[in-house]
Amino acid sequence: MLKLLVLTALLSAQAAGAQRTPRYDLVITGGTVVDGTGARRYRADVAIADGRIVTISRKPIAPASARRVIDARGRVVSPGFIDLHAHLEPLPELSGARSAVTQGVTTALGGPDGSSPWPFGPYLAERARQGIGINVAYLVGHNTVRHAVMGDANRAPTADELARMQGMIAQAMGEGAFGISTGLKYIPGTYSTIDEVVALSQLAADSGGIYTSHLREEGLGLLGGVGEAIEIGRRAHIPIVLTHHKAVGRKMWGKSVVTLRMLDSARRAGTDVMADVYPYTATHTGISVLIPSWALADGDTAFARRIATPALKDSITRGIVFNILNDRGGGDLRRVQFSRVSWDKTLEGKTLADWATRRHLALTPENGAALVIEAQLAGGANAIYHVLDEGDVRRIMRHPMTMIASDGRLSSPGDGHPHPRAYGTFPRVLGRYVREYHVLTLEQAVHKMTGMPAARLGLGDRGVLREGAAADLVVFDAATIVDRATFESPHQYTTGIDYVLVNGVPAIDRGTFTDSRTGVVLKRTAGKK
Ligand SMILES: [Zn+2]
Repeated sequence: MLKLLVLTALLSAQAAGAQRTPRYDLVITGGTVVDGTGARRYRADVAIADGRIVTISRKPIAPASARRVIDARGRVVSPGFIDLHAHLEPLPELSGARSAVTQGVTTALGGPDGSSPWPFGPYLAERARQGIGINVAYLVGHNTVRHAVMGDANRAPTADELARMQGMIAQAMGEGAFGISTGLKYIPGTYSTIDEVVALSQLAADSGGIYTSHLREEGLGLLGGVGEAIEIGRRAHIPIVLTHHKAVGRKMWGKSVVTLRMLDSARRAGTDVMADVYPYTATHTGISVLIPSWALADGDTAFARRIATPALKDSITRGIVFNILNDRGGGDLRRVQFSRVSWDKTLEGKTLADWATRRHLALTPENGAALVIEAQLAGGANAIYHVLDEGDVRRIMRHPMTMIASDGRLSSPGDGHPHPRAYGTFPRVLGRYVREYHVLTLEQAVHKMTGMPAARLGLGDRGVLREGAAADLVVFDAATIVDRATFESPHQYTTGIDYVLVNGVPAIDRGTFTDSRTGVVLKRTAGKK
């Protein structure tokens, strides 16, 4: 009896307390929690205060204990998605990061493919000052550092140049970089040897960073590219991410069987290799990817000079024809689709074949090569390359050591003709690869978007729904979530996401983008792991 009285007194005191000041800022009730660890879903209420998850309760949490209640019945509550390969370059102008937020992304890793902001620390400080829609973290780029020290020179660095590059990597790591990225396919990283990359990656490893790589080759030379990345991991003692893993060109389709076997055996031998993948059968990059790299050394004027020299122009053309037939050209001018053409907007969304037809040219690889040269001389262009196999995409996605990442660029409607991954990556995985194709379970997919990338980055308090973690969350309808952006019409936001919380504040509220800008700049703080 006394016990009951005490309990009643306690309860009424609590109720009175709740009326005065609610304990929680927000409670999400009635949802199904998919917590990001890969564990089975369960029903629970989630309470948030001061930007943190403070309670996850299988018993209902009283609505009166919160300032606001979100009814998540029939919805999934998961950690916010973490995009391990994001082109955040437009963040200064697109600070709300709407194209990322609307697909459930709450944290993104910038500085991929060897290219990062520089000077590093001041750039991070400026982003923190301006107010941003998502949490961001950055890698320091090998190409950025090499370009600063050596321009686009096609040679090895001197001892002094290598030391300066090492100094820059160490500096960025000290300023909070999460590791080093390389783009060994691109200028000027392509001119480096593995020894140079190892020497630089060791500095990132010394401060606990990771290594992510746009491989030297993703087409005919794919296996060599994967082998090189694994060797860098082994020699520099650094965790590796084979980013946007793929097999480019018809001749290489199916080769993910081999690359994933290489990943497995490297892991067994003690090298920590993982990969990420986007859920599309097309890539996106500069049109210069079709041009032999020797022809691009030392910048645009040097390229123009080579084109003006008939013998050099001939061999450049032969190299492009080879790449159109065997590599990113996919053997067909219709497979190369322009996304951004600053000097002729009417080409955006059109293919190399459309352009040739407009010029009354036959659709031969030689004519394609002439147009590629013309595009490069006019200032370059970006394009979408429809050269991947759906079987590889699914096989890579299914592998237990791969994560989901977009490789998308922050985009806004009306600007260019981007790859649809900029808008649709994460909902596409959940709507198609989970719900329609059954490639992954919902729990696996969410794990690959949250807990796995968080662990890779060493983010101890994000990527998993648990008490004490930062309140980055997504509330979505697993039955309807889907991407809407297509290769024909890319500027389409997704459907099926009701709420996205960034540090406890809704950036999507009842399906509507709020532009709340509560993201923070993350810095790698721990020392060597
Ligand atoms: Zn890339």
